[in-house]
Amino acid sequence: MKRFDVLILGGGASGLMCAARLNQHSDLQVALIEGNTKVGVKLKVSGGGKCNITNVDVRPIHFLGDAELVQSALKHFSKEDLLGLLEKHGLRPIVRKERYYFCPKSSDEIITILKQLSAKSKVFYDEKIISVTKDDSDYKIKTDRALYQSAQVVVATGGISFVTLGATDIGLRVAKEFGHEVTPFTPALVGLTLQPEQFWMKSLSGISLPTRIRVGDRKIEEDTLFAHRGISGPAILSASLYWHKGTIAIDFLPGQDILKRCRGQKKQISSMMNLPKRFSKAFLEHIGIIDKPCDRLSADELERLSQLHDYRFAPSGTFGFSKAEVSRGGVQSDEIDAKTMQSKKAEGLSFIGEVVDVTGELGGYNFQWAFSSAVVAADGIMRG
Ligand SMILES: Cc1cc2nc3c(=O)[nH]c(=O)nc-3n(C[C@H](O)[C@H](O)[C@H](O)COP(=O)(O)OP(=O)(O)OC[C@H]3O[C@@H](n4cnc5c(N)ncnc54)[C@H](O)[C@@H]3O)c2cc1C
Repeated sequence: MKRFDVLILGGGASGLMCAARLNQHSDLQVALIEGNTKVGVKLKVSGGGKCNITNVDVRPIHFLGDAELVQSALKHFSKEDLLGLLEKHGLRPIVRKERYYFCPKSSDEIITILKQLSAKSKVFYDEKIISVTKDDSDYKIKTDRALYQSAQVVVATGGISFVTLGATDIGLRVAKEFGHEVTPFTPALVGLTLQPEQFWMKSLSGISLPTRIRVGDRKIEEDTLFAHRGISGPAILSASLYWHKGTIAIDFLPGQDILKRCRGQKKQISSMMNLPKRFSKAFLEHIGIIDKPCDRLSADELERLSQLHDYRFAPSGTFGFSKAEVSRGGVQSDEIDAKTMQSKKAEGLSFIGEVVDVTGELGGYNFQWAFSSAVVAADGIMRG
């Protein structure tokens, strides 16, 4: 049986950052167990291969989960701390669309830094973690190849989205084994499917529009992309985080007033909508209005046209885990010590990253959470 001071389960964003922090600031013997033949697989594919690392505006409001836990981690290792660390090692992320920090060239830039900083850790690749048990003071970790032993175990195995990238539910199984309450994972940051009444949108596949989405008490302003399976794009992905069941409302022409624009106009309604022709045609057809000069719209038709700003409907579901960027849910945060990310139920067992019941919006929030929670855990272990 191989023994280490700290065993990190999962070599993704949070696992790598935790190993890096421990290696840079301690002499602890650290090992990382990863099911894939490479580490940082989700980092690699994220952000279109350029990894959206963090966001200009990192506040707890952009996360679903225990605001105090999030706030505490973000304070301990902030966006500025993350950017400072990367810059010190030669990576200056660039801001795109005024908010999102990306690697300038490729995700490999951040993966390389994390690998360099965690180089003192022993990495066991291509090993599936099967179980974690505890006797006396030590944890025993069983994989499909070996047995390991450690007094400190950090569960960094992420969520269950994108099974093709190695995702498993081992994190939740370990948590349950040690008496933790878990919120079952559900797909989030994912496209939404439509009920038959909204199938008119399917004909718009490929069109993308700036929109404002209302879901519960959240408002999201971003682009919506019409897809063959339903609706997607940044606005819908972020909205999916807050959607459970029930209606969402879309404003297809945010910041403008279609009724004002049409008033007294002799121009065709579709031209006053100033939206892609295919969209205007499908929308007018859907609400039962024939395209005609605006001044010929009846009061009832004007009422229906106003739906352009408040189109309410109930999606039928999501595109599922195979398309979801994250898994919402996880190990419940009230059983985790915010100062150390350690379990309140099992000494020496920590949970970090996506396996915890904290999920960020689209835009770099999930990596920021993964990194911040990882540093909190590493520092907690080093304080002893
Ligand atoms: C396509 C895609 C794009 C994304 N883009 C972004 C983005 O641009 N910005 C952003 O902030 N977030 C993005 N995300 C979300 C982000 O990748 C995750 O939230 C983040 O990686 C979570 O970090 P983590 O360390 O908790 O888990 P992960 O990075 O998923 O790491 C978990 C690791 O554990 C390993 N593992 C799991 N089970 C086992 C097991 N049984 N045995 C051994 N190893 C195991 C996995 O192989 C994996 O390497 C994206 C996700 C996807 C799928």
